[in-house]
Amino acid sequence: MGLIGADDDMSGSVVEANEEIAEIAEINEVDETEAGGDDGERVVRRDAAVRAAVEQGLLGPDAPIVGLLDVTGIRASAAALHRAFEAVAAPGTAILHAFAVKANPLVPLVRLLAAEGIGAEVASAGELALARAAGVPVARTVFDAPAKTEAELREALALGVAVNADNPQELRRIDALVRGGGATRSALGLRVNPQIGAGTIGATSTATATSKFGVGLRDEGAREWVIQAFADRPWLTRLHAHIGSQGISLSLLARGVAETYALAEEINARTGRRQVDTLDIGGGLSVNLASEVTEPTYAQYARLLAEAVPGLFDGRYGLVTEFGRSLLARHGTVVARVEYAKSSGGRRIAVTHAGVQVASRTVYVPGTWPLRIAAYDDKGRPKEGPAVVQDVAGPACFSGDLLAEGRALPLLEQGDFAVALDTGAYYFGTHYSYNSLARPGVYGFAPDGDGGLAFAVVREPQTVAEVVADSGGAHADALTTLRASERH
Ligand SMILES: *Cc1c(COP(=O)(O)O)cnc(C)c1O
Repeated sequence: MGLIGADDDMSGSVVEANEEIAEIAEINEVDETEAGGDDGERVVRRDAAVRAAVEQGLLGPDAPIVGLLDVTGIRASAAALHRAFEAVAAPGTAILHAFAVKANPLVPLVRLLAAEGIGAEVASAGELALARAAGVPVARTVFDAPAKTEAELREALALGVAVNADNPQELRRIDALVRGGGATRSALGLRVNPQIGAGTIGATSTATATSKFGVGLRDEGAREWVIQAFADRPWLTRLHAHIGSQGISLSLLARGVAETYALAEEINARTGRRQVDTLDIGGGLSVNLASEVTEPTYAQYARLLAEAVPGLFDGRYGLVTEFGRSLLARHGTVVARVEYAKSSGGRRIAVTHAGVQVASRTVYVPGTWPLRIAAYDDKGRPKEGPAVVQDVAGPACFSGDLLAEGRALPLLEQGDFAVALDTGAYYFGTHYSYNSLARPGVYGFAPDGDGGLAFAVVREPQTVAEVVADSGGAHADALTTLRASERH
């Protein structure tokens, strides 16, 4: 299928996670389908989608890059998440799975997940508005963010979305709003940081001693302060922790949840009431970007939690999860046309339309965020042929704009397609407008019931006129005519 694995410099997390999973897998036989659909079927669907996108003209000389979303796969992952937690939780346990919208902030996608029973975790006014546009009920929306403004907090409480305060100053703002506005429908919580350490990627580790998120529980006096904060506020009923995102091992995730659970038990014992009634355990399940195999699975994580923190699932606590990457990464694909194929200094280079604008993490930090690349021919068929070491370059004007460097792939030629796999989370959904490169169109695909594939527009490709408008086009004279006397 013309697919070559990424270089060997994958993050150690995958190795670590694999070791752990091997242990768990010995105890719990792994069922392939629990991973969220069969991995092999997903590859077949992807190949068909690339082919159909070319045949149906979504891709071509004038539309040289698209993002594709596999609706079947997304539904399967949502179902796997529900099944995994239902399998270990006492019957009747209230569980809200809230999709971390930042992982792929597209309204139709958030609505698809909502239709599959998944809520939304939002971290800005924009994400909140987007979740509302998608029709996510306020009762299934959780607002987390490190820098919520007073106006944002007021709106969230007026709407009734759940809010997790990040720090003592924010809690004081909420105090004032609760006092001023009387009862709110919002479930209110506090984010804590168990300070249990980092995973393999510093930038996505949130439980370090000096992380910017939450109240650091090991700081002097902090634990007592948290317990008192709950004792003083009958309306503060949730405890929230998110340990990190990609590169966090299953065991570190589980330790974070265990610490959060232990704190809830302590708060409830000290206050003598069921003060904390819900635990929000965050997201952060890693995706194995080195291969097509889905591991760890939601089922493995849920079973590990049930073993490590049995009280979590005995029905005394409601649960909230906030998965992003693990729900979406596998189900998104960037397809980019090879505009030119050239050679420089003996190196083959495919110059494509996918670079830093759709894969900023990979381009800026390639060792940490390698992407698997697959080669397809000009008809959208998986490319055969001997592997040739080549660079897969993007369209931006700096030399580091490479999707892959020195990668062995069937030789990409002019008019072929380079396909960046596992890009459904934190890639084409989160555009970066370097070089004023336009946002590519995003299309969802699903079987058309007739043996073919149907596509739906999820996001129109950005036009050049829109690029100008987003770049101050309406204010072209603003600086040349500026006078000190003019005020706005
Ligand atoms: C980013 C984030 C998530 C999602 O993390 P994933 O690794 O995508 O699952 C969940 N909760 C919070 C608070 C986050 O910041």
